[in-house]
Amino acid sequence: GTVYLNGQWLPAAQAQVSVFDRGFLFADGVYEVIPVYGGRAFLLDEHLARLQRSLQAIGIDGNDAPSWPTCIAQLIAKNKLEHGTVYLQITRGSSNQRTHLPTGSLQPTILLMTQSAPLHWGTPVPAKAALLEDIRWLRCDIKSISLLGSILLKQSAQEQHAIEPMLHRDGTITEGAASNYFGVKNGVLYTAPANHLILAGITRNWVLKLARGSDIEVREEAFRVDELSQLDECFLTSTSREVQPIGRIDDIIINSGGCGPITQQLIEAFHNSKRHHLGM
Ligand code: PLP
Repeated sequence: GTVYLNGQWLPAAQAQVSVFDRGFLFADGVYEVIPVYGGRAFLLDEHLARLQRSLQAIGIDGNDAPSWPTCIAQLIAKNKLEHGTVYLQITRGSSNQRTHLPTGSLQPTILLMTQSAPLHWGTPVPAKAALLEDIRWLRCDIKSISLLGSILLKQSAQEQHAIEPMLHRDGTITEGAASNYFGVKNGVLYTAPANHLILAGITRNWVLKLARGSDIEVREEAFRVDELSQLDECFLTSTSREVQPIGRIDDIIINSGGCGPITQQLIEAFHNSKRHHLGM
């Protein structure tokens, strides 16, 4: 495919970055993954607002960045992307030596590329999550490219034949390695509050909006590890998985392993927003 790198459009195989790039040496950068349905980015303003918050949090000035909506539209067109995702990464740039402290005025490295994926309708098969201790840092609100903790956790989950870790810290559920968790108890929808312990997922926020619009009672309160066996329903959300029901957490079976009614309702509401975006 064609990628955007620092103002140039290049075949992916020809796009090159310096070995001194701080993204390569220190994972000193941030990213976004933006869904594309029908050749158009979905919830783009929300993703771009989160990108600005991430850039601001780590002190990268995005003033020299291109106009994101234009650049993303061109990227989608050049790659003839119908359904999939746009990956956008910005690192602090490169100097000619490796020092932790950034020196001088660096030029951020900007990369955009696409990944295609089939458009899904219907209800995904409920999947297993693996309960694991959250070993990541305390600024999970920044969408950092430093993902070593998430990778180790994903590998542990996979060893347990789970699709995603369910992370806990101090007795409460934070989020997944690349997703947010929701629980339903007595008709109330719970999810962890958007503080420094989680990434406020754009899908999370959208699903909260859909739930409030469907008169589902919502509480942004983390649920406790010792309450998991009492959950009526559980699901996770992310850009790539949308709304994914969870039928099992370790050996705890949720809703007899099936997709619960509120999860089902939110999957349908999510599909309706996709239909709306596609003009169907
Ligand atoms: N939490 C983490 C740690 C993530 O990396 C992601 C996405 O990759 C999410 C949550 C879900 O966010 P979104 O819905 O914006 O994809």
